[in-house]
Amino acid sequence: MANEYKVFATFGFGEIRLPIFESTELFARAVGGETDIVSKEMYSFEDRDETSISLRPEATASVCRAYIEHGMQSLAQPVKLFYAGPMFRRERPQKGRYRQFYQIGAEILGGTDAPGIDAEVIEMLMTFFDKCGLEGATLYINSIGHNAPECRRGYVADLKSALEKVKDKLGPDSQRRVDTNPLRVLDSKLESEQAIIATLPHIADHLCDECKTHYDAVNRQLEVRGVLYRENWRLVRGLDYYMRTTFEITAPGLGSQNAVCGGGRYDGLVELLGGPPTKGIGFAIGEDRLLLSLQESGKSQAPKGRDVYIAWMGERAYAAAIRAAKDLRKAGFSVELPPLELKFGKALGQADKLGATYALILGDNEVSEALWTLKTLSTGEQTKFTEPDLLDYLAKQRSTSS
Ligand code: AMP
Repeated sequence: MANEYKVFATFGFGEIRLPIFESTELFARAVGGETDIVSKEMYSFEDRDETSISLRPEATASVCRAYIEHGMQSLAQPVKLFYAGPMFRRERPQKGRYRQFYQIGAEILGGTDAPGIDAEVIEMLMTFFDKCGLEGATLYINSIGHNAPECRRGYVADLKSALEKVKDKLGPDSQRRVDTNPLRVLDSKLESEQAIIATLPHIADHLCDECKTHYDAVNRQLEVRGVLYRENWRLVRGLDYYMRTTFEITAPGLGSQNAVCGGGRYDGLVELLGGPPTKGIGFAIGEDRLLLSLQESGKSQAPKGRDVYIAWMGERAYAAAIRAAKDLRKAGFSVELPPLELKFGKALGQADKLGATYALILGDNEVSEALWTLKTLSTGEQTKFTEPDLLDYLAKQRSTSS
């Protein structure tokens, strides 16, 4: 994926390296003690000083902690960061759901909550998927308002009373959630609950004027950017810290675990963790699922073949080969230089297996004539070049093919 990360740099994001474990308290406060992630799925351990530490189940909390701890509010705002690495959740393993899985995520902290920020982060995400070659990705968006009686809290109260009326028709998980976290009932994938859920009140009818205006503007901004989306009123996201914009992206070929990315706005989170009031929005891509979907569509990223395989024979040729490898690599070509002498037939076989574009053939003749043979492996065509001409030729070929 490293090459695709360049998309983030084009949007002004820098990489942050985060610790694999943090204090349990950080996740309990940020993600929410009542969430499944913290209450059931976290790998927590007692440290020697009897404090509790946990393997990170997600990284947004850590980015916010780092923002506060390193005084990033005094940098130019907003601060735009991306990360990649393993996360840990004690879930029931199945296709696309693992206990150690990998996320690639990005966060924008500080500055404004202008709808253009929400739309741009989503635009970046879709550009990233596009660069990865992911086809058939569908973006769903929603607004879950803000935590006030005239907005989300009013909705949750309404939702809860509607749920109380149908509680006996719901399964045990949803029944429990009616009391602990009614919004989560909307996440249910149980076939038997779908018809009931379809009759529940929608958040869009309960948003306050400001949240509604913000949501409409995000949609318009996505349209201006040419980003296709679908609205999904059931998209509430499982974590406590989200507000207003929430989004999810699904991809084909994944079965029931078809979400490849989730994200949203979390304006109160930095303050909740002891920092100044700070706007925030971000997303996390499930890298395992992204790769699974690419594989299913036949687009898995097979290791890229080399540009040049150097087939050498003889001590003098080896010295020339080492020099050639150095110059080619300096010019940005990927080069395979076998460490042991191989008969040319065998070396060319290896070059083929590695998917090399060219084989550079260096034997005694080539070295004494100072004319090197370059073989184009797809056509079998062979041409002789002097050392400087060879570099020029390859550079020209590269610029015409890119
Ligand atoms: P979340 O942090 O729960 O919003 O998840 C963001 C994305 O991470 C999801 O859309 C999935 O693609 C991926 N993900 C979450 N949990 C897992 C897991 N246990 N195994 C694999 N991928 C996961």
